[in-house]
Amino acid sequence: MIIATALASAAVALTGPVAAPTTLPGAVAAAAGYWQATPAHCSTESVSLGRTPPGVLGEATLPDAAGGPCEMVISRGMSPRLRCLVVVHEYGHWLGHRHSRDRRDPMFPLLDTRTIVPQCEQR
Ligand SMILES: [Zn+2]
Repeated sequence: MIIATALASAAVALTGPVAAPTTLPGAVAAAAGYWQATPAHCSTESVSLGRTPPGVLGEATLPDAAGGPCEMVISRGMSPRLRCLVVVHEYGHWLGHRHSRDRRDPMFPLLDTRTIVPQCEQR
C-alpha cells in the first residue's frame, strides 16, 4: 500500500527528455525493469485503475506461499510519473519486498517526489 502525502512543491530536477510511461501496462513493464524480477508466487497478475480508500494511491493483493492471483488497483488521477512510482511500489510487494525507511526508496510507504526510479523517468 502506498499513501498520499503532501508532495514537495519543488519539482524533481531532471535533465534530458523526460516522459513517464503513459499506459498502465507501460508502468508495469517499468516496474519489472526496475526490479529485474517477476513475481514468482503470482499465478496471474492483474493491474487496473480503480477506487482505493481515501488517501491510498495503490493496493496490492498478495498470494499465499502456495501461489495465487496477484491483483493491483491503482488510484485514478495521478500523473504518469507518479502512477508509475505507485506501480513500482505495489509490484515490489508482489515480489515480497517490505516497506523501506528510506524516503528515496520506492518501497517507502508514502509517495515522495524525491524517489527516483529511472524506468519511470525515461520512457
Ligand atoms: Zn506498500
